[in-house]
Amino acid sequence: MNIILLGAPGAGKGTQAEYIVAKYNVPHISTGDIFRKNIKEQTPVGLKAKSFIDQGKLVPDEVVIELIQSRLSEDDCKNGYLLDGFPRTIAQAEALDKITKIEKVVNIDVDLTKLLKRIVGRRVCVACGASYNIETYDKPDCAKCPSQLIQRPDDKEETVRARLEVYQNQTAPLIEYYRAKGVLKSVDGMQTISEVCSRVEKVLEQA
Ligand code: ADP
Ligand code: ZN
Repeated sequence: MNIILLGAPGAGKGTQAEYIVAKYNVPHISTGDIFRKNIKEQTPVGLKAKSFIDQGKLVPDEVVIELIQSRLSEDDCKNGYLLDGFPRTIAQAEALDKITKIEKVVNIDVDLTKLLKRIVGRRVCVACGASYNIETYDKPDCAKCPSQLIQRPDDKEETVRARLEVYQNQTAPLIEYYRAKGVLKSVDGMQTISEVCSRVEKVLEQA
């Protein structure tokens, strides 16, 4: 199955993505993760993307589209995949329509006014990428491996404000775009993680 996970920054896409890829055995394609890896390794793509990401802006469409086009042509995508963080603009969605057929778009619907606090409290493991929130886990080290937790540089308050604005202006219109195509499924993302998870499972089972 070819699936897109839609939702504002901090809506919990990454968390839900882990469950979906385990259940459906498809690759998890997160453009944010791909960019962070490229930045760490100082590749040309990473160098291009870094200044945009640090300012809470979107990486230019042509850079992201090229990246996704090459990723989707890899062998492991033959039997489906989960896109997380792509598309983020109408232009990206139109480009995607030219390369593949999307079967389900799951929109994790959240209260935008609650997101700032959620994201600013997020901590991630430098080694395994596991994600926590200081509200429920306020320790310096990861519970899954013996590594340090840090705040992502783009999770600082000023940058988060910019990201939320970008979401409203550029990404939220994708909800209508996919609704019009009849592939959109919305779930309430303001419930507990396991509750959201079972709702996501339910909409993925629906025809
Ligand atoms: P979140 O979902 O928490 O906002 P991501 O990890 O998905 O964060 O993305 C981090 C940053 O990477 C974004 O703020 C943006 O700068 C860049 N990025 C990721 N995906 C895209 C995309 N599809 N188009 C443009 N920029 C992107
Ligand atoms: Zn870890």
